[in-house]
Amino acid sequence: MTYRVREDISMGNAADVRIDPATSPPTIAFSAHPHGGPEALWFHFRIERDPDASPPGNQVRLLLRHYLSLAYTHPDMTANIRPVIRTPASDWRRLEAPQRIDLPDGQIDLAWTIAAPPPGGSLEIALCPPYGPQEVEQLIADTTGYWHADPIGVTPAGRPLTRLSNRYSSPSDQTKSPNTPGLYMIARQHAGETPGSWVLDGLLRALAHAGDRSPLTWIIPLADLDAVLQGDYGKDRFPYDLNRAWGHPPMRHESLVIQRDMRRWAQRCTPILALDFHAPGPCEDTGLYCYPPDEKESPKLRDKVDPWLTRFREVLGEYAAENFARTGNYRSRWETPTFCDFAGHEFNCPAIAIETCYALADHGRIVLTPHHYQEIGRRLAQAILAHQPQI
Ligand SMILES: [Zn+2]
Repeated sequence: MTYRVREDISMGNAADVRIDPATSPPTIAFSAHPHGGPEALWFHFRIERDPDASPPGNQVRLLLRHYLSLAYTHPDMTANIRPVIRTPASDWRRLEAPQRIDLPDGQIDLAWTIAAPPPGGSLEIALCPPYGPQEVEQLIADTTGYWHADPIGVTPAGRPLTRLSNRYSSPSDQTKSPNTPGLYMIARQHAGETPGSWVLDGLLRALAHAGDRSPLTWIIPLADLDAVLQGDYGKDRFPYDLNRAWGHPPMRHESLVIQRDMRRWAQRCTPILALDFHAPGPCEDTGLYCYPPDEKESPKLRDKVDPWLTRFREVLGEYAAENFARTGNYRSRWETPTFCDFAGHEFNCPAIAIETCYALADHGRIVLTPHHYQEIGRRLAQAILAHQPQI
């Protein structure tokens, strides 16, 4: 076989791979693997080409099958599905809009014709640039010791679950000087939602740059670490969606561990803000938007959140969706509390879930790269630094 597909890589995901070298150009068909969950969306794999590849050919056709079976897809929005590719020599690059293939039975497949890797070479394809432990390590290295990494427990599979922090402070510091503002952030409760991680990455780089001016900040960068590493999409993943597992008692070991960590954090600061980073459905192209607490259910919390929404919208400019503050009224498989519910009710802390599109913003006028996501994070940091209570 001229080509080989490897999904057994970190954060890898592909199902039902079929390689047809007889088409012109050769076709590599694949589906997103649900990995046992009800929803599928994330994919990420490497294509390797034989060193003595024949026929020679310089193109390959990627075929994403069963588009309408993917999470939150719409038949009229296929053009918004814009995966990324990279070679060992180049950084992630977003593909153009796909060719839409309407099958006689009503299904839709999506195709892209791309440059083939050279004989003996490889390329990676993913829904969105992956972000995992290696990127967290890079962030720590680039910010020269500003962020400490500590395990706060283990995941259900027994891996250490890491929390980053800029300083620990102590409960007695808070007693003496009760105006230490505190920020707690979490990303990847849904493992495949990597735009959220890239935004958080940019935010943390900006807070590191601000040094002592930054609030006491504790972060869980990869909350569902097991799912991240095994390449799950993770939204509504079984046995229990992590972002619905925040009640008393918590329904996942990760939320149990993080709840206890948040209590330690809250003893050391005055919680001013909690942020939870996600990505919406893959067709969304309007820009970044938020889920604040419902104003009917939690009017007091909503009053505390609204000024943050105004500030964020202002700094985000062209990256913000017109419909910026939305109500999470879509049907959920679990109606139990979210991370934001927990932060709000337990610490009276304004808490916001932030949704960053996979590929596009400003109705497609901005094609998002990691650089854009990091810029969004930098702008959020700018708003936090400008509006935190004075220490
Ligand atoms: Zn999510």
